[in-house]
Amino acid sequence: MASASEPHLPAAQRRAQLAQAIAQVRHTVEQACTRAQRAVESVNVIGVTKHKPASDVRLAYELGLRDFGENYVQELTAKQAELADLRDLRWHLIGHLQRNKVRHLAQAPVTLHTLDGEQLANEMIKRWSLVDHRAEVFVEVNLDNEVQKAGCLPEQVPALVHALSAHAELRVVGLMAIPPATSDPEQTRPYFRQLRQLAESLGLLRLSMGMSQDYAVAIEEGATEVRVGSAIFGAR
Ligand SMILES: *Cc1c(COP(=O)(O)O)cnc(C)c1O
Repeated sequence: MASASEPHLPAAQRRAQLAQAIAQVRHTVEQACTRAQRAVESVNVIGVTKHKPASDVRLAYELGLRDFGENYVQELTAKQAELADLRDLRWHLIGHLQRNKVRHLAQAPVTLHTLDGEQLANEMIKRWSLVDHRAEVFVEVNLDNEVQKAGCLPEQVPALVHALSAHAELRVVGLMAIPPATSDPEQTRPYFRQLRQLAESLGLLRLSMGMSQDYAVAIEEGATEVRVGSAIFGAR
């Protein structure tokens, strides 16, 4: 696979590099959709741009990407300000959200992929009650029960989703998970399947799962949002 690892290249060269990487990702998405008998429009590719310059986001936007994911609130809001002219660009926060950063995030529309419990939800409800847009959220699920890992335990998810359905400020649209890292993408398949089953049992339609290593497998298992960083923008 082409590696787009040189953000310092002249813009024309960087654009060509990103164009090639994005075409490759689209091809992989199409193939996975064909295998899974899914419509290619049912998969949203989120370009993950943490530690990459705003100029990369702009180039990828010009090449057709509309969804971008960041891990840190400060980096997200800085790029959001710099790229405010790109009206239909959609921002996603995919990294852990600390409660004391919530107020910075409520200023502009964003989809949060890492809602991990009621404390964070309550802080969000407080902040979003002051603005005129809703927050779209994915509940992050800790599928492998690792104590040090972020996310809700699977058995806690139904109660959280139910509690949040009473609040207009947040809208839970789906579930998100990061399976344990492995060099063999096939090993992540059971985790993706488990997340889909949990989402289906709750009537949630969207699944944020799959990264550069394993997004093809995630699509086969029903991912609606894949979070692809290094396969598009190169090593970090
Ligand atoms: C960094 C990151 C990604 C992208 O990872 P790649 O392996 O570079 O595709 C996806 N999801 C989350 C939560 C991340 O932190």
